[in-house]
Amino acid sequence: MMCVISIRASKRLNLRAVKRLLHTPMSFIDNTPVGRILNRFTRDVDCLDSQLVENLRLFVYQVSNITGILVMCIIYLPWFAIVIPFMVLIFLLVVDYYQSSAREVKRLEAVQRSFVYSNFNEVLGGISTIKAFRSERRFLKKSDFLIDRMNEASYLVIVLQRWVSICLDSIAILLALVITLLCVTRQFDISAASVGVLLTYVLQLPGLLNGLLRAMTLGENDMNSVERIVNYATELPQEAAYRKPEMTPQEPWPSNGEVVFDNVSLSYRPGLPLVLKGVSLNIKGGEKIGICGRTGAGKSTIMSALYRLCELNEGRVLIDGVDTSKLGLYDLRRKLSIIPQDPVLFKGSIRKNLDPFGEREDEELWSALVRSGTIEAEEVEKVKNQHRDESGSSTGLHKFHLDQEVEDDGTNFSLGERQLLALTRALVRQSKILILDEATSSVDYETDAKIQSLIAQEFNRCTILCIAHRLKTILNYDRLVVLDNGTVKEFDTPRSLFCMQDTIFREMCDKSGIKAEDFPEEQP
Ligand code: ATP
Ligand code: MG
Repeated sequence: MMCVISIRASKRLNLRAVKRLLHTPMSFIDNTPVGRILNRFTRDVDCLDSQLVENLRLFVYQVSNITGILVMCIIYLPWFAIVIPFMVLIFLLVVDYYQSSAREVKRLEAVQRSFVYSNFNEVLGGISTIKAFRSERRFLKKSDFLIDRMNEASYLVIVLQRWVSICLDSIAILLALVITLLCVTRQFDISAASVGVLLTYVLQLPGLLNGLLRAMTLGENDMNSVERIVNYATELPQEAAYRKPEMTPQEPWPSNGEVVFDNVSLSYRPGLPLVLKGVSLNIKGGEKIGICGRTGAGKSTIMSALYRLCELNEGRVLIDGVDTSKLGLYDLRRKLSIIPQDPVLFKGSIRKNLDPFGEREDEELWSALVRSGTIEAEEVEKVKNQHRDESGSSTGLHKFHLDQEVEDDGTNFSLGERQLLALTRALVRQSKILILDEATSSVDYETDAKIQSLIAQEFNRCTILCIAHRLKTILNYDRLVVLDNGTVKEFDTPRSLFCMQDTIFREMCDKSGIKAEDFPEEQP
């Protein structure tokens, strides 16, 4: 019964914690080390699943065993009942004394242990550097030193355990002694057989008391894990509502793709300085907008504002006249596509990566792969006919076959290839608004040009916001925004920005050697 109850409780807590974690604001993720989050969902959950119930069970088992023995003693020797309150009191005092020091020493040990682990991690990460500088000895010494420090603390832990176990044994043996003397000196009239029974059980007390203490200590430790998970399950800060059925705009929203930034100010967290300061932009449906500016000017932050990764301090963002801050996040984010500065791929097949919710036909995915240029149009029929070999391995497949395996974080693809896949994903999604954050920063010039012409072709009805460091990529865009220090400095067509003197854009063009001829002919 305890197993069932505890597994159920653990499952529910875990699910609630995961759910809450998925809806925390970005600032929480920025502020919290990943290791800490992982620890909650690995060590703490494991503790709830498998250790806590075992320790609770042991606790109940020992308590009932001891109670049984004491009751039996009282039945045979009623006077013995007087000793019990004192015995319980002494037990509690000893345990309390022990726990308060043991807790601190354990904490010390945990701190020292984490030094050892993190040092080990660092050494593994930098092993080639260490070898190059022939500093193995230095790091061995450091590691030895840290392990010694950890052992100093571990030694104390064990010493304390020995101490308490001697104390408890003494109490129990004292009891046994009293009972034995009472029996042997025939203070009460009980038979020899009964004395045998009594002594057999009373002599088990030392072991049982120690077991009880162990179960109590471990149970208390496990409860710390419970506390941490309950904290995640109930107290994590949450983003704005994910779904708001009453606010869902009528499909097909956004049909036009008009984006308006109305005096938007934003800081990443309360207390941090404003990153966007009163940004106002009026972007018509279907316009191609290039965004440039120095590093740290706030370009990526415009995207965060659009996605509501952090809420605006002031102002509004309107898409086709709908104030995005009033929508559920699901409705908003579903309608935007982004190729972020560092594209994310998941472990799984390419098919899963392009269409995580399994909403599209394979044909659409293939055609998107061809249109994005990842697979040549002539090859595609041949590639389609490739299949995994018998063992299910994907090594024989084309690099971008839908069944090709993607490793964690897409490490088996280069950055450029990952950007291409992210572009393909955007093609599949067919959103009205597309955001490119340095989407082509890691592909060669030729591919970049190819992608740009592809974007012009495939997304010609979409509103595109493109951030680019290579100015050449955005010269043929409709209008350019130049951001500086969180404010819009310039917002006009590339040619007029270039022709005006003293614009930041002109300065940047001069620096990267862009001349008037590089601009596309203006269309009448
Ligand atoms: P880059 O060209 O290097 O991509 P950017 O224009 O995209 O630069 P942003 O990423 O928008 O720059 O950053 C603008 C400012 O916001 C920076 O000064 C940075 O310190 C701050 N900032 C960015 N992300 C965060 C964050 N998650 N938390 C706190 N501050 C941030
Ligand atoms: Mg950026």
